[in-house]
Amino acid sequence: MRTAGKRLLLRGLEWSGFNAVVRRRRRQDLVVLNYHGVLEGDRGAADRNIYGTTTSTHEFDGHLAFLKRHFHPVRASDVERWAHGERELPPNAVLVTFDDGFRNNLTHAAPLLARYGVPAILFVSTGYLGTRRVLWPQELYEIAVRWPREEIPHPGGTTMFSLAGGRRARAKQLCEKAKRVPMATVAAYLEALRREAPLPEGLADTDEYEFLTWEQMRRWVSLGFDVGSHGVNHWILTGCREQELRRELEDSKRDIEQRLGVACTSFCYPNGGPRDWSVEAATAVQAAGYRLAYTLSDRVQSRRQVNPWAINRLMVAGHVGQALFRARVSGSVEVLRALSNVF
Ligand SMILES: [Zn+2]
Repeated sequence: MRTAGKRLLLRGLEWSGFNAVVRRRRRQDLVVLNYHGVLEGDRGAADRNIYGTTTSTHEFDGHLAFLKRHFHPVRASDVERWAHGERELPPNAVLVTFDDGFRNNLTHAAPLLARYGVPAILFVSTGYLGTRRVLWPQELYEIAVRWPREEIPHPGGTTMFSLAGGRRARAKQLCEKAKRVPMATVAAYLEALRREAPLPEGLADTDEYEFLTWEQMRRWVSLGFDVGSHGVNHWILTGCREQELRRELEDSKRDIEQRLGVACTSFCYPNGGPRDWSVEAATAVQAAGYRLAYTLSDRVQSRRQVNPWAINRLMVAGHVGQALFRARVSGSVEVLRALSNVF
């Protein structure tokens, strides 16, 4: 469908009352929203993130106003107890989550969350906090975009990967390939690329990429927000060997608890797609002492089928506009998707 027509349809879902009807019908469901970065200005075209997941403060403000009006924002601990049958959730419950641990979550998102009184949990990859590292898939992307030749070594072996024909698109495909390779191999691969084509000084300090320090994490906690684990190195659990898996789960939990003085009982699978977690991974999460784990299935969580080791989340990409955001959190997009292939 053409963009203008789609935009009109999306706006119509709100003013016609369709969103409200779906929200009422699905008031027993839980909406868990997944954000990454929040920054000022229009992030659409300028978004450096390869997945375009940076939300503008303006958009985020609009999201929170809508959630405050039509949903009941809850805390991660409420969801945890609910998933284990220990309490009920209010109708139209919504949980706001952030992944990775970017500094802009504290500087740009937290003031807005506080103004609206909306709780949030931040899932941090502890190995990046207070360092000048760029999150590894983004680092690989940035290296590939700047790579001096048309061919770059393939992450999984001795062959080469062609970067010809749309460098950014090919760089993104390279990242997807790397995600399917054992994580220890990817770490060595990145180390070799880094030596040959180091990223420009200061890239790790940009608003999009800079991570929080532990001191800033303490500020996040003192503002009343929650913290969960997103592993140590943002390694995809299905690409970890047994010992690596344990380290990702146990070391991140221990660091968060010892350095911040809070309980860390929620985990969020890095990358979060269907191939990024497994029954073995979920079992390891449970064995490490967590009580809940979140995926990134891009779906609303039904209250009828609850797996505490795979709570569904909806991904928010800021530049999609308020109309699509409203239709998605209300559940209208899922309803329409079931009826047609428009979305
Ligand atoms: Zn992540």
